[in-house]
Amino acid sequence: MKGILEKNKKFIEEMKKGDKDFFEKLSQGQHPDTFIISCSDSRVSPSVIMQSSLGQIFVHRNIANQVIQQDLSLNAGLYYALKHLKVKEVAIIGHTDCGGIKAAYTTSEDAEFCVWTAYIRENLPKEDFDKYSLDDLVKINVLAQVRRVQEHPIYKKYGQNTEVVGYVFHIKTGTLETLDPSDPVESSAPRGQESS
Ligand SMILES: [Zn+2]
Repeated sequence: MKGILEKNKKFIEEMKKGDKDFFEKLSQGQHPDTFIISCSDSRVSPSVIMQSSLGQIFVHRNIANQVIQQDLSLNAGLYYALKHLKVKEVAIIGHTDCGGIKAAYTTSEDAEFCVWTAYIRENLPKEDFDKYSLDDLVKINVLAQVRRVQEHPIYKKYGQNTEVVGYVFHIKTGTLETLDPSDPVESSAPRGQESS
């Protein structure tokens, strides 16, 4: 990407303007209070939408914010966040207009992609999915990943005091909505007719 180094220089200047010892303090260690599992979508950057500074959130990202027990990278992150960083919350962040959820219902000929979309589809309605809007499916997916964290052996072993919360980031408004796991998503509108 053109301009990466220029942007980095500006970033350093800005941070030092706020606190001239910022990087010196940062180099002393990290103490994030939240482990975030979010979609990779470029519009959903967790530190940006939560205005987090460096050192505040520990992040794992993949397409459609999946929690898969065979994912060694996720497992290592979850373990480190719970056991060593002792985070207070695990947050799953999905978002409206998620291309990963869309792709789960699309026949793809890309072998590299369809293995992943098969994982995404595991937690989505198997029948009558046309009754659900894309954003309904996004919520169903987030709540399924909350359950997957709660059922994860690493969470069961090290996450006793750690809350798991699901959120949906609404791209059209910038709002982060907290999902209530006791409020199951009912089908609202056929896909293609969703309002957001
Ligand atoms: Zn997405």
